Amino acid sequence: MGRVMTNDPSCIFCRIIAGQAEASKVYQDDLVTAFMDRRPLTPGHLLVVPNEHTANLAGLDETIAGRMFVVGCQLAQALRRSGLRCEGINLFLADGPAAGQTVFHSHLHVIPRFIGDGFGLRFPPGYGSGASREDLDTVAAKVEAALRGNRGESSEQEE
Ligand code: 5GP
Ligand code: ZN
Repeated sequence: MGRVMTNDPSCIFCRIIAGQAEASKVYQDDLVTAFMDRRPLTPGHLLVVPNEHTANLAGLDETIAGRMFVVGCQLAQALRRSGLRCEGINLFLADGPAAGQTVFHSHLHVIPRFIGDGFGLRFPPGYGSGASREDLDTVAAKVEAALRGNRGESSEQEE
């Protein structure tokens, strides 16, 4: 595996990428590095991280984001062939503390899953009743406007 220069010495993932902190690496290329999560949710739990220090999704270059996902998919296939217990896979990315991000160097989790592994997502109270088409359309309009670089509220007033 090639060597990548450290770009933020105060960041544990930057030090791992540069080979200056211990980790069980499985893959490294010019854009991303993958290694075992040190507190695996299930055996085989991996992290794919950009080599360049990037705290959150907003700062992530599109080519690097694409590479993270592609390598995540390749690792998912490798896990299924690995002999580890793997009946399914979760790809998970926490962006921001409210979403559960604890290490502020963006990373994609690749998590092997099997029936009875004990891991899961907790649903909010009242989940499952579904939203009305009107509510969904209102929310969709805000997202669509934001995607165009506008603020959701102003476009709602225009329409
Ligand atoms: P987050 O909650 O930010 O999505 O996930 C951070 C992940 O990084 C956690 O699953 C945690 O176990 C893992 N982690 C934190 N520090 C280290 C470390 O020093 N080495 C490795 N391999 N994983 C780490
Ligand atoms: Zn970093």
